[in-house]
Amino acid sequence: MGEEGTIREKIVRLLMETQRPLSASEIASMLGLPAGSEREVYEHLSHIAKTVRRKSGGKLALYMVPPQCKKCGYVFKDLDRPRKPSKCPRCNSQWIDPPKFYIAET
Ligand SMILES: [Zn+2]
Repeated sequence: MGEEGTIREKIVRLLMETQRPLSASEIASMLGLPAGSEREVYEHLSHIAKTVRRKSGGKLALYMVPPQCKKCGYVFKDLDRPRKPSKCPRCNSQWIDPPKFYIAET
């Protein structure tokens, strides 16, 4: 016991225990990852999205609250993978609320 587990396992545990959806930067800071680790967290999330359902025997899934433009309210509903869009296609604002994640029962 006392084994640390991989970052990916820690992210899964964090997203199962959280009371509210978490952004990639919140996940990075809660796990003590260095600044600028969001990109790495998004890669882990892409992998977790594909594996968590199978690993849990179909009981759990990763859910994403889609990013939203803070200026005009545009919601990025059709993202192909977890990421933060750089700008809004409707108003060109770069003021984007990042996607947030949680793991819950299917
Ligand atoms: Zn916008």
